[in-house]
Amino acid sequence: MEENLMQKITALAKRRGFVYPGSEIYGGLANSWDYGPLGVELKNNIKQEWWKRFVQQRSDVVGIDAALLMNPKVWEASGHLATFSDPLVECKECQRRFRADEIDESTISQRKPRNDESKEWIIVGAWRCPYCNAENTKNPPRQFNLMLKTFLGPAEESANVVYFRPETAQAMFVNFKNILATSRLRVPFGIAQIGKAFRNEITPGNFIFRTREFEQMELEYFVQEREWEKWFDYWLGEMKEWLYKDLGISESSVEFVEIPEKDRAHYSQRTIDIEYKYPFGQKELYGLAYRSDFDLKNHFQEPPYKDPETGEASYPHVIEPTWGVDRSVLAVLLDSYAQEGDRVILKLKPKLAPYKAAVFPLVANKPELTKKAREVHDMLQPRCMVAWDDRGNIGKRYYAQDEIGTPFCVTVDFETLEKNDVTVRDRDTAKQERVSLPDLPAFLMNKIYG
Ligand SMILES: [Zn+2]
Repeated sequence: MEENLMQKITALAKRRGFVYPGSEIYGGLANSWDYGPLGVELKNNIKQEWWKRFVQQRSDVVGIDAALLMNPKVWEASGHLATFSDPLVECKECQRRFRADEIDESTISQRKPRNDESKEWIIVGAWRCPYCNAENTKNPPRQFNLMLKTFLGPAEESANVVYFRPETAQAMFVNFKNILATSRLRVPFGIAQIGKAFRNEITPGNFIFRTREFEQMELEYFVQEREWEKWFDYWLGEMKEWLYKDLGISESSVEFVEIPEKDRAHYSQRTIDIEYKYPFGQKELYGLAYRSDFDLKNHFQEPPYKDPETGEASYPHVIEPTWGVDRSVLAVLLDSYAQEGDRVILKLKPKLAPYKAAVFPLVANKPELTKKAREVHDMLQPRCMVAWDDRGNIGKRYYAQDEIGTPFCVTVDFETLEKNDVTVRDRDTAKQERVSLPDLPAFLMNKIYG
């Protein structure tokens, strides 16, 4: 039944224009997805709310928008070229390639630590294929680098190899001194970015959950070392507010998972995975990590920060909250999906909904009603996305708007012509009230953003 919800969401997304399979008329392209007219609105609304909350409405955070392709030395310094990899196995029987963690542990005959320092294990003995059940003996996993490679310039030679960024974060670190030089920021402060990142995932899947091209919202918050715990807690609180208040995700859908030391990066003293209970299992939605001074030390030989009062040079420490954009869209769709009989309702927060209102003439064949309804539509349109529908009966129009999460439906009827008021119907309660036309814009804006 839960799996069913995933199918319902995927079908609704395609049918109503939220998300289509990528390159569909050519048979698709493995796990790529295109956002349609409603999907791009929902996604942009999420990004805009994030940018407003974490950049524009704060004086201690600035934003950047960096290039997707960066000098390969960035990835050498950050460690991505050496270690940003997943263990890949190939079954000799069915030729399937997949991540080693898909293998049932009880079928593995022998393991050893990855290296002296690592607490991670790798398979050295036999294992059984989870797809065809064949026993594999001579093909242990090999490390597969997840960086997506391409060539810059006309010659496909090694000197021209570049990588699409696998995360947005490194651009914040390499621009650290530029930003200090062009702003009046002092620690604690943050640098934020929204943008695409690419990972050559071995097994992408679950709709827009894991894709090779995806979008991130990231923030690097620079603090003094002695204050890292305080700021970690602060950002954890901010992430909760964002989830519950801005996205409207219910607390019972989310789990905050403290990552134990053995699974954390060696430089991190605390990491929390914020996991969502997807129909296919509880998996990562967001993350929060204390990254010490690891990143700035990777890129700067000399301490890049000078305290404006003491003049003391240092490497500030980093708290990194990170949010997946596509996963936010998926979580919001799943969390807002409701069914009442044969009526499907996306109970989106009004400020996230693609259309804020829909305007209907009560019947389509009365020119005076249609004319008046058009006027109402055109009055609202400069203020918000507004839909128009004059097909079928009014009940069907309501249902069609409920299914895409439109919070308010405005109906122009014969009374409107006499009294200059309209019926406004609320998506979640299905309650209707009369609102005078001059009051309508303020009435709606207050309900949506108020
Ligand atoms: Zn197999």
